[in-house]
Amino acid sequence: METNTTETNNIKFRDFDLKPEIQAAVQEAGFVEPSPVQKEAIPLILEGNDVIAQAQTGTGKTAAFGLPMMSMMEGNGEVEGLVIVPTRELAMQVSDELFRFGKNAGLKTATVYGGTPYGKQIDRIKQASIVVATPGRLQDLLKSGKIKINPKFVVLDEADEMLDMGFLDEIKNIFTYLPKERQTLMFSATMPPAIRKLAEDILKDPKRVSITKKESTNTSILQYYYVVPEYEKDDALIRLIDYKNPTKSIVFCRTKKDVDRLASHMTAQGFKVSSLHGDMEQKQRETTIKGFKKPHGIEMLIATDVAARGLDVNDVTHVFNYALPFDSESYVHRIGRTGRGGKTGEAITLVSPNELRTIKRIEKDVGTKMISDVIPTRIEVQNSRANELVNKIANTKITPEAIELVKTLQHDLDIVTIAHLLASMIQSDNAVKGKDNIGLGLEEIELLIERAMQNRGNDRGRGGPRRRNGGRGNSRNRSSYGGNRGRGRDSRNGGQGSKHK
Ligand code: AMP
Repeated sequence: METNTTETNNIKFRDFDLKPEIQAAVQEAGFVEPSPVQKEAIPLILEGNDVIAQAQTGTGKTAAFGLPMMSMMEGNGEVEGLVIVPTRELAMQVSDELFRFGKNAGLKTATVYGGTPYGKQIDRIKQASIVVATPGRLQDLLKSGKIKINPKFVVLDEADEMLDMGFLDEIKNIFTYLPKERQTLMFSATMPPAIRKLAEDILKDPKRVSITKKESTNTSILQYYYVVPEYEKDDALIRLIDYKNPTKSIVFCRTKKDVDRLASHMTAQGFKVSSLHGDMEQKQRETTIKGFKKPHGIEMLIATDVAARGLDVNDVTHVFNYALPFDSESYVHRIGRTGRGGKTGEAITLVSPNELRTIKRIEKDVGTKMISDVIPTRIEVQNSRANELVNKIANTKITPEAIELVKTLQHDLDIVTIAHLLASMIQSDNAVKGKDNIGLGLEEIELLIERAMQNRGNDRGRGGPRRRNGGRGNSRNRSSYGGNRGRGRDSRNGGQGSKHK
């Protein structure tokens, strides 16, 4: 990370001079350690600087500008902050995030985008402290005089996307309606010349933040991703564990709160797990790691990035990203916990439908392709287990005790009934729990990728409603593909999970 110095490495949120209500909201959200872009940008913004930050989606950039901005707001009933974003999806996402940070401080957010009636949006703007808007609709509202705003803070989020989508003129025009006295923040994943030029026009002596380190991944790690709505992630994780049957695995979450919740859930489901996070005493952490390293010790660690930094365990077969990491560097770091010492490993990432662009970004950054896959159905897991069982039974050595047992049973039962009874007994121990289908099917994923990558210009009123978890139809065919349009699909053997035992 270019600007992430050792002094900033140990910074916690409480070290930032944020309003108590905002600090409380951060705590409530379960954030402990600021992400790299937050460490860099928050102090600069709180000092009143204009900032130009090179940071990608999923790096925590919304909080990087949202927290300091909201901390400096008065909540005086006026629009104090304006956030301009390229798409309606991002507008909704950013609004949701800002809403949870601002609600304790009484800071309301209005979301403004094309394709919906003006009236309601205008009413919301009148009550809001922050407006999150896409350029087309915002320009309409300002130009027609339907709204007049004097924000002290203006944020351009995903500025490169806005330019790619042809919004430069709209943006320039929008700025003619904004006060000259303002603090302007610009976030962009890339810094092409057009962005630099725009920055020169709208920012004053900006401070620069850049979190862009590129890393590459170990080729002995198979990388899969599954598109799963947030509410199905627990079920998806359990189903994948049932299917992949990891010997030793690490499940990465974002926050300590998520780690604790997931650890209790998994324990309640009968898994042997331990949690690892930054708030644990050093000694407790060491004991957990020791237990994880032992051949028949802890099978699964549920951890935050902080805790797993530098963790060196040789026989981790699977890494699960329950939540996406902040940046591509952390992705590489996380999945590098498997496939060590010349062994192969699997990295499995659960992505919510609106995070597909982040997956594409990680792929680009680390120069890798993740395989898009579908969560196996209950029947698929059951069939795969049945196959394993048949092999196991066929390869088991017959013991004298077993011969005695069968002899005893034969007093009352015939041999076929005995076999059926024994098989039923084993089967019932082996039953797969949960609903049949979890997560999105391949066609749905393909559609979402297409929309995320190609149709980002929906701000101009064409976009349909967000497709959260549509019909399942025939779209769950198990096959893998690279995710890019134009690439062919290959079919894969759907029945078997990989084994590393
Ligand atoms: P963003 O890059 O703003 O889209 O943020 C990505 C995700 O990370 C969002 O779900 C945030 O709620 C979450 N997030 C942001 N900052 C932190 C943090 N410091 N600790 C944990 N999660 C965070």
